Amino acid sequence: QAKALGRGRHHFFDVSLRERMQRRLRMEQDLRDAVHDGQLWPAYQPVVDLRTGEMVAVEALLRWTHPRHGAISPAEFIPLAEESDLINVIGKEMLRATTRELAERRRQGLDLTLKVNLSTRQLDDPHLVPAVQDALANTGLAPSALCLEVTESALMRDQEAAAEVLASLRALGVLLAIDDFGTGYSSLAQLRRLTLDTLKIDRSFITGIAESRDAAAIVTSIIAMAHAVGLTVIAEGVESAEQVELLRSLGCDQAQGYHLGRPVPAAELFGQ
Ligand code: C2E
Ligand code: MG
Ligand code: MG
Ligand code: MG
Repeated sequence: QAKALGRGRHHFFDVSLRERMQRRLRMEQDLRDAVHDGQLWPAYQPVVDLRTGEMVAVEALLRWTHPRHGAISPAEFIPLAEESDLINVIGKEMLRATTRELAERRRQGLDLTLKVNLSTRQLDDPHLVPAVQDALANTGLAPSALCLEVTESALMRDQEAAAEVLASLRALGVLLAIDDFGTGYSSLAQLRRLTLDTLKIDRSFITGIAESRDAAAIVTSIIAMAHAVGLTVIAEGVESAEQVELLRSLGCDQAQGYHLGRPVPAAELFGQ
């Protein structure tokens, strides 16, 4: 009986694996089409200064509106784009479109900086640095108005290579942020070598701060550590007024989250 069950499991596994692979291939082809058909677009989420309450920056977040399946989460399609090398094409287009948007808004008088996410694969791309340089030159966006976000795990994967690319980006005059901080295992010493400007505390650490003393204590120590090495601190995933107040009292510099503003199309955030 055990044998029959075992065989059954294998059969089940084969079928679901094949289905998953077919689904992935279909998604990959759909993503290729999406790039050409303009189904990918940037949403913008406000980043708020906790002392003044003003919006000081926006984070560009990639959105895919699929013609049949509707909105597909970047958590689902970015890993796919990374496997198929599409990420470099998508990433460059994202840089082009968002720097153009922000340069225009700044010319209209909005004093905002732009945050753009970079994935691991983009850090490996030799065309990344020239692409950033081109985006800035073509749009006239000041380099200091652009902050590139790299996740902690991407930075820790190949530290030597990452440090080198970040130094080249830094040389262009752009700012650098470590994203999802706390989810990897980087040390203070490793972070110091990277000449970063901003540290974003991962949402998972913010979720419980209003209820749990331990959670608040962890955030307190992250803020102290970041400030000690001269980094600006942004709290991610702020969902309540209590969290805003607490973060302000802890000396956190900026915050981002549904309570302060969801990611929305440019026209909705900035006006037409
Ligand atoms: P991230 O850079 O850490 O972005 C923050 C994520 O948290 C976004 O998810 C945002 O919509 C979500 N978020 C913001 N405030 C709240 C909140 O109060 N509560 C909750 N529950 N979530 C909140 P999103 O847009 O689904 O993006 C997920 C991840 O995909 C991003 O995490 C980033 O790593 C990646 N990503 C997004 N756009 C790009 C892109 O253009 N290029 C690359 N390479 N990665 C991107
Ligand atoms: Mg980010
Ligand atoms: Mg994050
Ligand atoms: Mg994230």
